[in-house]
Amino acid sequence: MTTRVHRFGRGVQATEGLTREVLGGKGYGLVEMTRLGIPVPPGFTITTEVCNAYYAQGALPADVVSDIARNLALVGKDVDATLGDARRPLLVSVRSGARASMPGMMDTVLNLGLNDVTVEALAVRTGNPRFAYDAYRRFITIYANVVLGASRERYEDSLARARARAHVRADHEIPAEIVRDHVRECLALAGPGLPQDPMEQLHAAIAAVFRSWHNDRAGVYRKMQGIPESWGTACTVQAMVFGNLGDASATGVAFTRDPSSGEPGLYGEFLPNAQGEDVVAGIRTGGKITARAAADAGASDALETRMPTVFAELAQAAGRLERHFRDAQDIEFTVQDGVLWLLQTRNAKRTARASVRIATDLVREGLIDRDEALLRVDAARLPDMFLPRLSHETAHEAEARGELLAQGLAASPGYAAGEIVFHADDAERLAGRGRDVILVRRETSPDDIHGMSAARGILTATGGLTSHAAVVARGMGKCCVAGCSALAVDYATETLRVTTATGTRSFRRGETLTLDGSTGRVYAGVLAVSPAVSDAHYDELMAWADARRTLGVRANADTPADARNARHFGAEGIGLCRTEHMFFEKGRIAAVREMILAGTEAERRRALDKIIPMQSEDFAGIFRAMDGLPVTVRLLDPPLHEFLPETPEDLAALATDMKVPVEVLRARNDGLREFNPMLGHRGCRLGLVYPEIYESQARALARAAVECAASGVDVRPEVMIPLVATAEELSRTRAMVIRATTEEFTAAGRTVAYTVGTMIELPRACIVAGEIAAHADFFSFGTNDLTQTTWGLSRDDAGRFLPVYIDGGIVPADPFATLDIVGVGALMRLAVAGGRAVKPEMKLGICGEHGGDPASVGFCDALGLTYVSCSPYRVPTARLAAAQATVKRARS
Ligand code: ADP
Ligand code: MG
Ligand code: MG
Repeated sequence: MTTRVHRFGRGVQATEGLTREVLGGKGYGLVEMTRLGIPVPPGFTITTEVCNAYYAQGALPADVVSDIARNLALVGKDVDATLGDARRPLLVSVRSGARASMPGMMDTVLNLGLNDVTVEALAVRTGNPRFAYDAYRRFITIYANVVLGASRERYEDSLARARARAHVRADHEIPAEIVRDHVRECLALAGPGLPQDPMEQLHAAIAAVFRSWHNDRAGVYRKMQGIPESWGTACTVQAMVFGNLGDASATGVAFTRDPSSGEPGLYGEFLPNAQGEDVVAGIRTGGKITARAAADAGASDALETRMPTVFAELAQAAGRLERHFRDAQDIEFTVQDGVLWLLQTRNAKRTARASVRIATDLVREGLIDRDEALLRVDAARLPDMFLPRLSHETAHEAEARGELLAQGLAASPGYAAGEIVFHADDAERLAGRGRDVILVRRETSPDDIHGMSAARGILTATGGLTSHAAVVARGMGKCCVAGCSALAVDYATETLRVTTATGTRSFRRGETLTLDGSTGRVYAGVLAVSPAVSDAHYDELMAWADARRTLGVRANADTPADARNARHFGAEGIGLCRTEHMFFEKGRIAAVREMILAGTEAERRRALDKIIPMQSEDFAGIFRAMDGLPVTVRLLDPPLHEFLPETPEDLAALATDMKVPVEVLRARNDGLREFNPMLGHRGCRLGLVYPEIYESQARALARAAVECAASGVDVRPEVMIPLVATAEELSRTRAMVIRATTEEFTAAGRTVAYTVGTMIELPRACIVAGEIAAHADFFSFGTNDLTQTTWGLSRDDAGRFLPVYIDGGIVPADPFATLDIVGVGALMRLAVAGGRAVKPEMKLGICGEHGGDPASVGFCDALGLTYVSCSPYRVPTARLAAAQATVKRARS
């Protein structure tokens, strides 16, 4: 049987070909550092496989137990010490470490090997009894917590009493005798569960480390990160080194590049005369690694100036590690009596901005190629770069002041601060006067769009990540915190009540709040923000991405402002322009309602004649913004009742305007109600029952096109018919559009090339795609509706049960967020095959929310679609994800 225990450290011939899978990230890093000649304290790693064996048998396997003893002897030989020896005792740490980094989720025991005898030997050997008792008290506390499952609280209380008795504030100032008394208290607290036999301690600690794989926080973290339970953790046993032996000793953490900006150069903190856990716990604030950083922070202490030789060695090791792992590293180190030891190295976690800078810098430094750089950046996080945001410091300070009010869902990233308003009209009015407002609602509806668009941010009490507020806010690139259940919103009194840990707080209209859409946190008052800045490294990476990808990227944009924004983010056209959003504009909704509630065709045409010039103007604005690029305009899609007046007053006013008795209007209004509007009279069904609606939209579009073309704009319109299920529906609506457009072109004495195509968003359309293709110049997959209709699942109602499905693993992911490739994807494949069989060169796109999801983009690339279309803020994500798909295809 091959060994499941692997040794590392100076002079060890480390086994070749061991992987992170087998050794865990920590063990792997230690073995690799050994191979690179970097100083690490000697030790050995027990493989992840043993973790599973331990769970299966409920005990450590016999071969592992004997390998542990053998390796421990070798480690002891190396440092001239023996576990439990009364004169030269060996002390070790027992460390957890899984394949993927799970910071702080599992347990580690330090200073193991101490007992009542060895502690005295340590005191004599180091000539520092205070240090020896301090190491012992740490060991007892950790052992009791990790192995015996005791709470740390009573140990910490006892330590606080020791500090009080000594009249000092810091632990390291407590004199030896008082630490010794504290040790006695700790021993009493731990009781007989704490063995004096070091070998017994070791076996129990190893078992506890394996068990910590299954503790609650590790479980939650795994689920969040999608880490399989079957991986298990490895366990590393390593000779202790001490950073707390005096002023020539220290401990610290260093990044090889700044993890928030990506700037090259060591970055981090250290503590003189301290043990590793003190840095992480933030008990004392440390000095900086470089002299420059210390100067910047106004701090006096820098490792570079305090220990120049150690600093130079650390910098050299950092360079070697970066070249070896070809990525920025996060390093733990300890200095014992002037000698540097590295305890851990791993690929550094970093912000989106830093990831872009590091990837492009590594290419320049010759460590990776461009393809690899493209894969190094998380496409989904790219939009973070462009958001103004709260700095961590600002957020912490606010929290310390008790201004963190509540935690909701991080529905749409960014930062927003402003006055509270409860109604969309108020949001619009106040924003119009240049005020910053936060729209607070129980939930939002399409009626609130104007207020949402005017507000800085949106806060809702109910609704999930796919609620109206969340989806619309993401589309607008607007900060949104949704489903914040600690809120009670009272529209009548215009007050917001927040239940916090310390009681209830009330906020009235006009009082201020700050939202962090990236964390879902809500703060009282206005917090300051750091603005986003442009970035040359980003431009460089995106140029590589654009050169590499074959999939096109367009944006969903409904207004000229959105269109300009989309272009700025690199969209190559508009894949979806929703005409209905123009209907909600102020001054238009009345005409739209007239059109809907018209009793006769003549009345309807009269109302439409008011709408056409307005729509025409919008289209012209979009065409100008997208000069030279295609613009896909979808004809009216939603059920008409969405536009109707809600209150009796609105209805009465409309009746006066239209000179129709209010009862007649009410009856027509009621007549439009549907049981299931999403499956009702909408999409092309509207165009077929009221041909004048689609006809006039086509006219508005044609007028805008000729007008723009006449002024030299390169216009490329594509008319898109929604919710088509049969070829006949498309053939008729297409004929309608062509007839109206031709008439307009004739009247204007000018023509513009255009195409007519269809959304594919019903399962039937996928199945009969071949027939439909005969009448379509292009297909665009509307994967929101296609997901709803394939699953028989209403997106607006899914919040009631979908979270349970997702948490419980009944579905692998939210099908509205990431495309259901197995189900919905199969229908798409069918439609692609059907369409391309009839028209091999047919343009195929996708315009659902999925167009900005990296995994879904990968699938669209594999399907051979022409382009994906997503909200403007997701365009960079889609561009990068498309390039990543090309690279992965080339590599496989
Ligand atoms: P985590 O995964 O939570 O970082 P670690 O196993 O890295 O846990 O250990 C926790 C702390 O103890 C770290 O600061 C680490 O540097 C320190 N440490 C671990 N092993 C040793 C050792 N052999 N000598 C000195 N310090 C150690
Ligand atoms: Mg660590
Ligand atoms: Mg649709």
